[in-house]
Amino acid sequence: MSWLSGPFLLAATILVMEGFAYVLHRFVMHSKWGWAWHESHHREREGWFERNDLYAVVFALPSILLIWGGLNGGWGDWATWVGAGVAVYGVIYFGFHDVIVHGRLPHRIVPRSTYFKRIVQAHKLHHAVESRDGAVSYGFLYAPRVEVLKQALKASAEARVRAAKGASTAHSSERV
Ligand SMILES: [Zn+2]
Ligand SMILES: [Zn+2]
Repeated sequence: MSWLSGPFLLAATILVMEGFAYVLHRFVMHSKWGWAWHESHHREREGWFERNDLYAVVFALPSILLIWGGLNGGWGDWATWVGAGVAVYGVIYFGFHDVIVHGRLPHRIVPRSTYFKRIVQAHKLHHAVESRDGAVSYGFLYAPRVEVLKQALKASAEARVRAAKGASTAHSSERV
């Protein structure tokens, strides 16, 4: 492996992990099965840990395995770099999501850049919805413009109101 391909693999892994986290958050964590762990993150936390933290434990495993395989298992340097990329993403994710947005550790960081403000606000908008359905902004390090998200949130709330009305009229007509 050339000296450049290691850092390149690390950076590429961080980008791929953001895409992977988006897909997982949207289609697994907010699905029937994934919600059992993720729901705790959309509720008020009691104590420092929440069941949703189990996802972080699960994702630490492939990272540890890849680093171990690269260093001791003869898998090649690529495994170490990819494993390190997963770990670095985990650290960035924890710093941004758990510390800065959710304040799980004390800090004095105030988001000032347009990008930083946007991703913090986008994740707060994700938490505007406490139910499994109807949330917006599933990404972490990338987010659409806040106005776009607010629009989507409004549309999904209106759709849910319509669905609820539809359900209740169907229900009342059943009773008649
Ligand atoms: Zn969520
Ligand atoms: Zn969150």
